[in-house]
Amino acid sequence: MEEKIKEVLRANGLKVTKTRIEIYKYLVNTRSHPTAEMVYNDIKEKLPGVSFATVYNVLNKLVELGLAKEFSINKSKHFDGRIVPHIHFVCISCGKIEDAELPDYNDVVRVAKEKGWDIKEFSLFIYGICPECKRKSKS
Ligand SMILES: [Zn+2]
Ligand SMILES: [Zn+2]
Repeated sequence: MEEKIKEVLRANGLKVTKTRIEIYKYLVNTRSHPTAEMVYNDIKEKLPGVSFATVYNVLNKLVELGLAKEFSINKSKHFDGRIVPHIHFVCISCGKIEDAELPDYNDVVRVAKEKGWDIKEFSLFIYGICPECKRKSKS
């Protein structure tokens, strides 16, 4: 995992820094789809002296380099270290964002091909109520 980011950074003429590597590792290992604020709060202990602006810039750089994805929910920007196509479920009650496997991305590719569309970006969001919130509303 570390090798991948080192390779991409070098290929783009960017310096391999501890900050960039740690933020990338954090993003790949979490399933919480954090905002920049969340990443900053979790990572500042590991990277003493790091500023929010740096974290924010690194996150955007990772997206630019194709190492991460970003999307907006309720006007806040979230980051995802998982770059393979997948489904996002957003709970409209607690705001939790979860991943699910896409049944078959090849079908998406096939449909796009039939239409003559070149896919540059793919996202699928389901909005609803998560099992925990459902349980809470019943009790
Ligand atoms: Zn919920
Ligand atoms: Zn995701």
